[in-house]
Amino acid sequence: MQKPVLAGNWKMNHGPTEARAFVAAFTARWSPRADLTILFFPPALSVTTVIHALGGRADIGVGVQNIWTEDKGAFTGETSAPMARDAGARFVLVGHSERRHVFGETDEQAAKKCAAAARNGLTPVLCVGELLEQREAGKTMDIVLRQLRTGLSLLDPDVIASMAIAYEPVWAIGTGKTATPGDAAAVHGVIRAALHNLIGQRASEVPILYGGSVNAGNARALLAAADVDGLLVGGASLDIEGWVSICGS
Ligand code: PEP
Repeated sequence: MQKPVLAGNWKMNHGPTEARAFVAAFTARWSPRADLTILFFPPALSVTTVIHALGGRADIGVGVQNIWTEDKGAFTGETSAPMARDAGARFVLVGHSERRHVFGETDEQAAKKCAAAARNGLTPVLCVGELLEQREAGKTMDIVLRQLRTGLSLLDPDVIASMAIAYEPVWAIGTGKTATPGDAAAVHGVIRAALHNLIGQRASEVPILYGGSVNAGNARALLAAADVDGLLVGGASLDIEGWVSICGS
């Protein structure tokens, strides 16, 4: 298994000025560690600032929170994968629950976004997760597998083997309700098995991150759960103390 991945999704927070200050404060507190991968997902307008503020630190990767499916053209307001790459991003979140449920993004669009990322040298982090009513109706695994299989459907096995998946139950995102380590392990195990069906033994190389109200108090237990290879953290990644503590979990 690869080293744990700790990813901070800043959502629509930290424009360039705040982003610069955040990175300066974090890097002053956090020394590079070879046993950990840290990723920042700032708003697209802050990506270049974050990269400059990191000053070449190779232990922290930077990604965008979204891209459009096409590489260029008449798509006012969108960000393309080539632009994100040109700005210095190396990763992209695809299918985050806010994209799916606030902006109506479909599984098919998520698949096209993963493909756009791959053909432009960005590593996709495909996010999947069920709504509360779907969990209560016993449909968690069906939903997660549908989102996973469709989201990966346009990708070559080599791309799948080099990307990451994030399981983020929608009912846990920004709500303060966290899946138990056992809940997370159960879904992550199903995701791993589905990956195994797609790419065989290389499924073990794909980090599967858990996300949903992770904080300094629950990070360690979640990271210790079976098949949990990292964390995707929203709100708690905005607070320096909390984020330093999560990175040290
Ligand atoms: C997220 O935005 O991916 C997320 C998991 O948010 P939070 O940690 O705030 O629940």
